[in-house]
Parts: sequence; structure tokens; C-alpha cells
Amino acid sequence: MTMHYQQPDRSRRSAALFETARKVIPGGVNSTARATWAGWDPYPIFAQSGTGSRLTDVDGNEYIDYLLGLGPMLLGHRPPAVTRAVVAFIEQRGTVFALPTADETTLAEKIIAAVPSVQRVRLCNTGTEAVLYTVRLARAFTGRRKIIRFEGMYHGFSDSVYWSKHPDIAKAGSDHAPRPVPQGPGLPAGIDETLIILPWNDVTALRDALEREGDDIAAVLSEPIMCNTGCILPEPGYLEAMRALTRKHGVLLILDEVITGFRIALGGAQGHYGITPDLSIFAKGLGGGFPVAAMGGRADIMALVEQGRVSIAGTYNANGIAISAANAALDELARPGMYERLYAVSDRLREGLERMVQDLRVPAHVVGLGPVFQIWFADRPIRNYRDAARHADHAAFRLWWEGMLNRGVLFHPGAYENLFVSFAHTEADVDQTLAAARATLTEMLV
Ligand code: PLP
Repeated sequence: MTMHYQQPDRSRRSAALFETARKVIPGGVNSTARATWAGWDPYPIFAQSGTGSRLTDVDGNEYIDYLLGLGPMLLGHRPPAVTRAVVAFIEQRGTVFALPTADETTLAEKIIAAVPSVQRVRLCNTGTEAVLYTVRLARAFTGRRKIIRFEGMYHGFSDSVYWSKHPDIAKAGSDHAPRPVPQGPGLPAGIDETLIILPWNDVTALRDALEREGDDIAAVLSEPIMCNTGCILPEPGYLEAMRALTRKHGVLLILDEVITGFRIALGGAQGHYGITPDLSIFAKGLGGGFPVAAMGGRADIMALVEQGRVSIAGTYNANGIAISAANAALDELARPGMYERLYAVSDRLREGLERMVQDLRVPAHVVGLGPVFQIWFADRPIRNYRDAARHADHAAFRLWWEGMLNRGVLFHPGAYENLFVSFAHTEADVDQTLAAARATLTEMLV
């Protein structure tokens, strides 16, 4: 089958804008995930606008949007209540004061009410910053040096965690003891000595590492669902074991809920799975599309910030835009019946796709929970990064992605990203998506 990404007659303006952009912006884009080498080859679609579940590009093509800005547009594009709140705040009050506002306390109270493990919370702007602060806090609290993190996860781009997702696993150590591998040049040597990289979903590997080096380990940093190597769910008992083992060794458990927070449930994936971490990180689900992040957890750990021993600073922390957006977004999310409806729409899509690949005998399976999922084109289950690196069929994913894009369904071209469903998606969107999927998969089988 021959398919053409970005049918040229439908994407002339995107192609032209990319040519102009790359003369002044390295790679033509401002974040790696939008780059040609992240899958948007030969050029990314240039966005014009979004409304609810729909995105329109500069050539006038409309898509049902499951990219959702890579997660933040949980309420859909331009959710009216959030937009109104932000505009009112800017027009009536301002943006940055370098003084606290009462609205910050209100937001902190809402986060604490939604997520019981969070007794105290600090606000910042991005997931990267929240991870950086949290890891620093964990080291300060425990007086220990090392962090365990898992191969294939992504915790932002700060030097201390930007390791381990090597496309060539042969260069990244053995399956049971992966080596820290920098995500590229420019990371200072020596940080690798502070990291232990483990395969995810592997209790034995975690137990062994903690028994071997527990006294030197400050924290285990993990997503509760692996959302940065496609979507991989925790095996039954895995998160519980992670919690029990970290507690046994006096190691802090940090759950990075940048993607899952306020999305899997109002209480995050930790609420869904009933796991109580020591510290948590939230970002994409929090701000209704505006840049805001939060880190928080046990009061005794967060007290280190209070005493000024661990500095968490930022000119734009808790700025008026972020706070008004997050306050409005959380009010929306807390309305009765919201998640039931989100799950009904999401399950219809995920289960519909799963039934379809089975009916059509496509060697693929759909993995996810509620509004986050991915299709693995693989003939066996994928339980960690190495399985994905060995068995995921990226060429098939590419055909699937192109076929869907050309039928008006947008998601990220990388098999290691996710599809996101928003509160604005409807059953009609799902039915249209399933029709596009049937046509695409049928074509792929020819
Ligand atoms: N942690 C996780 C799990 C993420 O998925 C991401 C971003 O995709 C980050 C941290 C970094 O967040 P940000 O892009 O807001 O810096």
C-alpha cells in the first residue's frame, strides 16, 4: 500500500511555513516532540486553532484531536470556563506580582482535597521543574544521593533525570541492569553515578536494587502508568510492591503524575490504584491548557521548603494566568459525573478499537486506562521498554497514523506517545474515529 503523509495538496501551507520556520528556529519547532525526527517527517502540521475536540490546521483541514497538545487540553480546546477565568484575571487584576495572592491558597486547597497523599503543595510552571524540585527535596530529606528511575520513562529534560531511553538497547546494558544513557550530548558526566535505571514492572529488579544499595537511595521516581513508551499499565501488585519495598528501605516514593494526574481520576492514578506516594508531581492535567505544575506530598517532607532549607523559586510560579486557569479547570473537573462521562466515551473508543483489531486479525492490541491509550502493533504483550524496543512494529504504526491523519483523525506520529481523549470528545467523535480506523486497518491489510 502506498500512502502519503500530509497529502501535498492538503498541506501546502504547513510545508511552506515549515521552510520559513527552519531558517530561524533550529529544526523549525520549539520542542523535540514536534520535530521531524520525532515522527513529523517531512514537516509538522501547523496549527491554526482548536475548539473542543477539534483542531484546524493552517490549510483548513479539520481533525478530531487526540493529540490534545500532548495532554494539557484535557477539557478540550478553549474550554469556556477556563478562558473566561483567565481573561477576567488578566483584565481585572494582572499577571505577575512577586507577591502571593489568595487564589494560590484556594488552588492548593483544591489539590489537597482531590489528592489525599498531598498534605502540602508548591506550584510551578512545568513538569520538568516540578520533577527537579521534587528530586532535590527527596535528596535533602533523606540525605541520600541516588534516584531509581525506570527505563523508557520521561521525567522532563533536566540534567539529573534526562537519561535512559536509548533507541539502541544493545548500548544500554543488560535487560535486568540497564545502564544510564544520556538522552544526548551536553549532560555533565558523573550524574549517571546518581541514577539507577531499572526495567519497569519487575519487582525482583527493584527488590534487588533496594537491598543492594538502599542506604544510598533517596527515592524511586516512577509514573504510575508508563505513558512515555506508548501506554503500559502496571501489572497487578507491582505498584503495591513498589510502595512496600520503598517504605521498608526508607526510600521515598515519588509518583510522576504529569500525564495521569487529574486525568485518570480527580485523585490521579494513585487514587485509581490506591497507592499513597510520599511525593507527587502534577502538570498537564491541571491547568486546562495553561502552563502550571504542582509538586507536593507529606507535610514532614514539604516542611523542608518551609524552613527555607530547600529553595523552590521561580519568578513565574503561581502567576495569575496559571492560577486562574487551574482554579477554573479544577472546578470543572470536580463537577458531578464528569469522569463517568469521560470514561464512557473513552472506553467506547478503546474497546471499539480492540474489538476491531481482533475482528480484522491485525496483530495489535490496545492498551490504556480511561482517556489515555495507545495501539501496540506487536504480536505479544508489551510490559516494559525493552519489549517495546524489540517487538513494536513502528512501520505498521506509521501506516496507521498516516491513514488516520488523512481521514481527519490527529494524534502523535510516535508509537511511544499516547492518544488522549478530552472531556469535550463525544460519542459521535468516537464513531467517526472508529469508521476511520476500520478503513485504515482494512487498507493496511491489503
Ligand atoms: N513527566 C512526565 C511523565 C511527562 O510526560 C512529562 C512531559 O511529557 C514531563 C514530566 C515534563 O513535563 P513538561 O513538558 O511540562 O516539562
